[in-house]
Amino acid sequence: MWMQFSNGFAYLLSEAKNDNSMTKLKLIYEGKAKKIFETDDPALYIQEFKDDATAFNALKRGTITGKGAVNNKISSVLFQHVEKEGIPTHFVKQLSDREMLIRKVQIIPLEVTVRNITAGGMSKLLGIEEGIRLKEPVYEIHYKKDALADPLINEEHALALGLATRAELETIRQYALRVNDFLRKFFEKLNIDLVDFKLEFGRAGAQIILADEISPDTCRFWEKGTGRKLDKDRFRRDLGDVESAYQEMLEKVTGKLG
Ligand code: UDP
Repeated sequence: MWMQFSNGFAYLLSEAKNDNSMTKLKLIYEGKAKKIFETDDPALYIQEFKDDATAFNALKRGTITGKGAVNNKISSVLFQHVEKEGIPTHFVKQLSDREMLIRKVQIIPLEVTVRNITAGGMSKLLGIEEGIRLKEPVYEIHYKKDALADPLINEEHALALGLATRAELETIRQYALRVNDFLRKFFEKLNIDLVDFKLEFGRAGAQIILADEISPDTCRFWEKGTGRKLDKDRFRRDLGDVESAYQEMLEKVTGKLG
């Protein structure tokens, strides 16, 4: 059966694949929070979300029970919203609790962040307190390099190193700011301040598409009014109630709470 996706691509899916029995083949990548597997379709991968958590460039390690399933579901919901906003993503469909079928992309080695409120790296870098509402969203690119803890770079560095073309960098910037516009309003309605988040993009042929995940691992979520943190900072900073914070965000995003 031919499936037409909003990103303009059409895939021929067998009946077997439609009932979620996509064959998982070789493990091709294992990161801190996810595994990527080949499938019997060369254009598609399976992304599996783990409960493992790391922070401070993997100096701190732990497990957040149920995190894999929560992040898979939250990312699946948010990717579908973002697609509707006209931003192509690697999301094809959710296969199971922890598995997502994704389009194969070549990841661009940049961690793209957008900030609405000061926190984390920006507060540290500039010596300013956390929690200041920024007059404009701050767009940043970081070079994906674990050994250097993903240093902040500018577009000239990215161009000079050949990480992406000028046109690709402009597309990435536009997409990231549009994702911010959408997510900020989406979370506003759920009584959550979207403080900042990180995105990764990939190439599928000539097209730039949003990849990776959008979850409490990669975003900072603060409850409006109280400032209560509902994201990975609960793990990073030993604030307790980590699992319940992730569950709470799942319930909000899926419309079961909030
Ligand atoms: N972030 C991420 N992966 C990283 C670094 C940051 O997902 O390797 C997210 C982080 O959760 C936050 C945003 O990107 O929502 C900005 O992070 P920041 O630069 O402040 O770094 P941090 O202090 O979190 O290391």
